[in-house]
Amino acid sequence: MPKIIVAIDGYSSCGKSTTAKLVAKQLNYPYIDTGAMYRAVTLYFLQNHISSTNKREIENALSQIQISFRRHPELGRNDTYLNGLNIEDEIRKMYVSEKVSDVSAIAEVRHALVAQQQRMGKSRGIVMDGRDIGTVVFPHAELKIFMTADPLIRAQRRQLELLEKGELIGLEEIAENLRMRDHIDTNRAESPLRQAEDAVYIDNSLMTLDEQVEMVVRLADERITSSLRSREMKKAK
Ligand code: C5P
Repeated sequence: MPKIIVAIDGYSSCGKSTTAKLVAKQLNYPYIDTGAMYRAVTLYFLQNHISSTNKREIENALSQIQISFRRHPELGRNDTYLNGLNIEDEIRKMYVSEKVSDVSAIAEVRHALVAQQQRMGKSRGIVMDGRDIGTVVFPHAELKIFMTADPLIRAQRRQLELLEKGELIGLEEIAENLRMRDHIDTNRAESPLRQAEDAVYIDNSLMTLDEQVEMVVRLADERITSSLRSREMKKAK
């Protein structure tokens, strides 16, 4: 079977990662959470007091950063590692969310992470979610999804997620963080968040998780079949 790239982009906390993870499981593809990579760089910048304007300092910091994903032996989730340390819980905290969009707007940071993401998807057969996957990282992805949901629903989902991790944050503070990140992500000069022309738009405000996953898997199956057909047609020529 031909392997395809599934690129899922969209606004903060609209359920991209949860959907992407389950779609990857069904397709038996690895899943890459690129937001976690930007969060890892942000954590490093915060811990090491890296200036966001000093190009040399940024480049030097980036050369010291190694990001990887490893399966958690008991929880079965894919954890993010920064220079060999498990930072999965730390990068989801509010103080990282408050800075991540500023760090993500730095051109040098984007160039370094986009290059790593492209290497990860070189042999295709991958599900990746983020803000620029279908537009910049894999403009030739076979399936592109642009996901969104009502801002209040997104804030409620994020609040629940943080609560499950032991952080109790007010709805208004969360909604403000999502507004701020959406604003920076859509207005930055370097690869802003936008829907790719050939992306399928999904507003999941009123959809269940199962419905979303089913829809994306069905679209992926269609693309796999059409890749197979065009491969066979090429062979027959
Ligand atoms: O997906 P998540 O909300 O964890 O992403 C955190 C932040 O990382 C986003 O708000 C955005 O600023 C940045 N990001 C990005 N490009 C990506 C993925 C995430 O700029 N491909």
